[in-house]
Amino acid sequence: MLHILVVPLPLQGHINPMFQFSKRLAFKGLRVTLVIISSDTHHEPIETQLSLVKIESIYAASEEADKINAEKKMQWLQNILSKRLPELISKQESIGYPISCIVYDSAMTWALDMAKGLGIAGASFFTHSCAVGTVYCNVHQGVLSVPLKEGPILLPGLPLLEPHDLPSFIYDPGSYPSFLKLVVGRFSNITDADWIFWNSFDCLEQEVVSWMRTRWPIKTIGPTLPSMYLDKRLEDDRDYGFNLFTPNTDTCIKWLESKDTGTVVYVSFGSMANLGEKQMEELALGLKRSKTNFLWVVRESEIQKLPSNFEEQTSEKGLVVNWCPQLQILAHEAVGCFMTHCGWNSTLEALSSGVPMVAMPQWTDQLTNAKFVEDEWKVGVRVKVDQMGIVTKEEIERCIAQVMEGERGKEIKRNSMRWRELAKEAVAEGGSSDKNIEEFVAALLCK
Ligand code: UDP
Repeated sequence: MLHILVVPLPLQGHINPMFQFSKRLAFKGLRVTLVIISSDTHHEPIETQLSLVKIESIYAASEEADKINAEKKMQWLQNILSKRLPELISKQESIGYPISCIVYDSAMTWALDMAKGLGIAGASFFTHSCAVGTVYCNVHQGVLSVPLKEGPILLPGLPLLEPHDLPSFIYDPGSYPSFLKLVVGRFSNITDADWIFWNSFDCLEQEVVSWMRTRWPIKTIGPTLPSMYLDKRLEDDRDYGFNLFTPNTDTCIKWLESKDTGTVVYVSFGSMANLGEKQMEELALGLKRSKTNFLWVVRESEIQKLPSNFEEQTSEKGLVVNWCPQLQILAHEAVGCFMTHCGWNSTLEALSSGVPMVAMPQWTDQLTNAKFVEDEWKVGVRVKVDQMGIVTKEEIERCIAQVMEGERGKEIKRNSMRWRELAKEAVAEGGSSDKNIEEFVAALLCK
């Protein structure tokens, strides 16, 4: 039986799609081992078989690494994995399960050299959109120079992009200089990869996917939501199966059950974004002013930024939790809108659930995702920031109302429902993403 090793970065937004992809490969009959690097003693190392995928957990203390910059953290990961992965590969070989291919997070370009050195195929997995990939690729090739000289920008396969539609590392390169090098570096050896996977689907990014295919034979394999939210072919595949934070599931669901259909705005900024105190206050006041109910995920590390007594003052219409089962929330009929930072997973999850969005991007690829949400897929409204870079309470109230009320709200809802069907079609039997996975499996069998 063919055996694949899947290695994501140890971040929620990278583990989720690569774990789901692993499940899809296992569904096609492959043996799959997913490597999870855990650096937090609060999380039990997993040594178990979740669904059809075997999980190998590598524990590595990183107190120091957590505090240092992205480049150093990547180096830390590389140091650990370049020792531990060959050990794991040779152990699997010795017990009769040799690895045929390593699917590595596109950020780990060194993994391709490692795979080739071991005589194994290598596949790069991109966890952001093809549009964002195209922007980074153009920077890598020197077509787009950073800092930007002028805007707007026209790149092949993409709509006209204003500077603020570009990923923050390009729009504001001073903000996180080490990240720019990392995201652009993903293209350094892409032409040597045996396969290139993208968590997207063909019709979602038709033009840019077509352009990319003139360069590399990329395979879109998304959206990578659990099967129960899409084609329902994978039995019991109801959630991602791995949470960096503990969700307040019962509290959320019970609370949603008490609300009428389409009356709740779900608010979350994902696993990493940190809002400034002023922004947090404006958001809190905007939610308080808005006519709708709200369910707001405020991670434990952010909770002290809430205005004092906010939860007591809004308990009639609002619930604040530290983490939630996002897919279940989006699928709940009480939810009528998702106020999101537009992380790529959250964007795909909202699209696939037919939930309209208020896009409030914070950094990295979220700015470009927000542009597509509003102008290309027309499934939401993007907030405007004021001269101080703040989204005011009035703006928050206005955007929620636009998405949840009136003619524009209805049109956005119609578009959202259409994308939901197209997302399902992509992963269903014979859909574009399903075919791409089939082709990969067939090619591996022939190797
Ligand atoms: N998520 C979740 N519960 C929450 C907030 C987020 O399960 O309360 C999940 C969400 O479903 C998504 C992931 O965390 O799969 C966040 O990934 P995304 O790419 O949207 O954002 P990131 O965290 O990488 O910024």
